[in-house]
Amino acid sequence: MDEERTRKLKEVTERTGRVVPEMVAIRPPSEAKSLLIRATRGCSWKRCVYCSAYMGGDFSVRTVDEIKADVELSLLYYGPDAQSIFLGDGDALELGIDPLIEVLRFIHSCFPRLERVTSYSTPLTLNHTPAADLKRIKEAGLSRLHVGMESGDDEVLHLMQKGVGGEAQVEAGRRVMESGMELSEYIMLGLGGEERWEQHIENSARVLNAINPHFLRVRTLAYAQGAPTFEEFDVRGGKLKLKLFPEGYAQLQTPEGILLELRTLLKKLEVSTVVTSDHSSNYFPEVRGKLPEDREAMLSVLDEYEKGMADGTIKLPRVKLFT
Ligand code: SF4
Repeated sequence: MDEERTRKLKEVTERTGRVVPEMVAIRPPSEAKSLLIRATRGCSWKRCVYCSAYMGGDFSVRTVDEIKADVELSLLYYGPDAQSIFLGDGDALELGIDPLIEVLRFIHSCFPRLERVTSYSTPLTLNHTPAADLKRIKEAGLSRLHVGMESGDDEVLHLMQKGVGGEAQVEAGRRVMESGMELSEYIMLGLGGEERWEQHIENSARVLNAINPHFLRVRTLAYAQGAPTFEEFDVRGGKLKLKLFPEGYAQLQTPEGILLELRTLLKKLEVSTVVTSDHSSNYFPEVRGKLPEDREAMLSVLDEYEKGMADGTIKLPRVKLFT
């Protein structure tokens, strides 16, 4: 670090009492190269039973001054050339609209080459945010939201304690699209277990068709230690039952069943959307492309997997681990 930056770092440290930026707990894989700035800590919902993210800490909102201090420190440590920034943790909109706009403007003033600023958000927050405020956030420079839809099926969403149903997912997605921000939706294959896979996929396709998001990122339900749905799961004992809430059980979907889910979904989607399988939980990472034009190519990938699984040349683990 040169003399000028060292002097500025000392000044920021003395003024703010901070030496290094706070760490963002989790970010989407597509933000691997992004600069990470923590706007809030943890998740305010924390009830989805397949999720063990943020287990260790309570939710809290950081002050604008704290966040700005981290932006200044990041600028000094990494320089002004960042092209993308991800605002953690679970939902930057929970900062409040005006504080978020202040943070966004400050970020853009510090990093003039920014092409993208993104955050997670949830239907719970989005559906309580007036459309005019979403547009203001977009104008202040938040360019993309990552939304974990996971399923469009009311029963599956309820049994997984997602806190919203399919129609709320549609409303939230449409609000983001109408704001002009880019929208990354996430679907979690296997979330309905073997018993509810058809309704899970049917209604997820219906919701996605109603939203027509820019991106669809595929995930697969994977064993996450500490997540309530895996409370009675016993990989070594072969007990692959998912616990449902408030009651009941479902059988973990097989790799063959996951393939069928993805094939059915791809056939049912009537969207103009980039599909990616950019997560370690996925069995079929090569399934990626743009719908509708790459549909057949993506289905061919699944055909090859199916052949390989049938003749034993491809062996997939019965349980995926969330890493
Ligand atoms: S899946 Fe998302 S909204 Fe649900 S508990 Fe985990 S972090 Fe919170």
